Amino acid sequence: MKDKLTHPIFKIVSDCSEEMGIHAFVVGGWVRDVILNRPCKDIDFVCVGSGIELAERVAKKLGDDYHVTVYKNFGTANIKYGEFDIEFVGARKESYSRGSRNPIVEDGTLEDDQNRRDFSINAMAISLSKDNYGELMDPFRGIKDLEEKNLRTPLDPDITYSDDPLRMMRVIRFASQLNFNIEENSFDAILKNKERIKIVSKERIADELNKVILSSKPSVGFKLLFDSGLLHIIFPQLVHLHGVDYVDGKGHKDNFYHTLEVLDNISRNTNDLWLRWAALLHDIAKPQTKRFEQGHGWTFHGHEDKGSRMVPKIFAELKLPQNEKMKYVQKLVLLHLRPIVLAKNEVTDSAVRRLLFEAGNDIDDLMMLCDADITSKNPEKVKRYLRNFEIVRTKLKEVEETDKIRNWQPPITGEVVMKTFGIPPSKKVGIIKDAVREAILDGIISNEYEKAFQFMLEKGKELGFIAVNNIFSGKE
Ligand code: ATP
Repeated sequence: MKDKLTHPIFKIVSDCSEEMGIHAFVVGGWVRDVILNRPCKDIDFVCVGSGIELAERVAKKLGDDYHVTVYKNFGTANIKYGEFDIEFVGARKESYSRGSRNPIVEDGTLEDDQNRRDFSINAMAISLSKDNYGELMDPFRGIKDLEEKNLRTPLDPDITYSDDPLRMMRVIRFASQLNFNIEENSFDAILKNKERIKIVSKERIADELNKVILSSKPSVGFKLLFDSGLLHIIFPQLVHLHGVDYVDGKGHKDNFYHTLEVLDNISRNTNDLWLRWAALLHDIAKPQTKRFEQGHGWTFHGHEDKGSRMVPKIFAELKLPQNEKMKYVQKLVLLHLRPIVLAKNEVTDSAVRRLLFEAGNDIDDLMMLCDADITSKNPEKVKRYLRNFEIVRTKLKEVEETDKIRNWQPPITGEVVMKTFGIPPSKKVGIIKDAVREAILDGIISNEYEKAFQFMLEKGKELGFIAVNNIFSGKE
């Protein structure tokens, strides 16, 4: 493995450990990824001795710009080295108690340290000692499992998953990221231990879920989460999408598998986590809005609106951020049918203007979501839908060029209304302000301040107000 240790850091760690008279190894994810030719920015070093002391010596050798962050409680130390995140730890032995996924830790040998690792492919180490520099230490035949695309726990999977139930999420995440298979008895052990996922913090679970979502074919991970029963515990709203109801022999599509297809589709075009989340949640309210209407068949009226309102609770439950990212997901879920409606009907300027106004800068993401939402197996239909979206896209471009509505703020604010009519804040201020905005979006008046101001005066008059200040002087 010498040829893999091209980065100068390995020589430095090797020299430092030699000076200290201890053995050091590079271990875990970096070893796995270098063999798989995957980029990896985290490098973990383990030494039979003090990881913190080794880190301090390495930092000194690297120069004044490098600092060690010590995590005393964990006995680990970290150095940020350019784009690399380097972690040092002393080899350890772990034992678990039933109520917690945090082990009792004591010093150990390299072998002890490899035993505590979750999967054979994550338990490989490369020696940095002078006498066997570059030698692969692979006690559980991780290299063979890498070749055979196998995920296997070094020790009894039942114990491995019960000790630290997060590993059940991790194995599914690796299966999704690497497109590997989970060994049968390992999967059986997940079925047996799934309830223990409840002792894992929501943040950790969300972390793994996000990694599944960011994998190149996320449906792989979600199907495993579903088949193992873990999804039912960690994300029941998604499970509710599963299944098909029939009335008079008529069924609808299975919204769970449809959603996964949409997620895979969009993942071919974007690595944006939140756009992928929007794909995952776009139909989330279909179970709650499902109706069978005689003569019509299955309908899901209002699922986009209800779905968008479900997003904050889902994000809160999963401990995902309650910020502008969440609002972005909400917005895409809310608007995801609009381009489809536009494509079905004749595309009017005012409908396009309205969509541009509401979607703002997220319009391209919305169109990407709509493309991904086409999961028909009929190639003629797919062609037709895509053609219709092309027409919508052309129209969006035309309207944007003439009306500049994308990042538009309506010209008449509540402030202008109140000053002009000399009135305090009230519901009617909002009515006037909204009427002006709607008139512009509908194309009744053009998007110019003067026209908007005149329209406001008329609207105010209708409601019994008279202008007391003529604050129109171009712009307030
Ligand atoms: P990635 O870098 O893709 O997130 P990774 O698992 O390699 O995945 P870390 O989570 O930093 O990255 O873990 C580093 C190593 O620590 C792993 O390769 C594995 O050997 C070990 N490890 C991490 N978490 C666990 C765990 N829950 N149980 C046992 N070993 C673990």
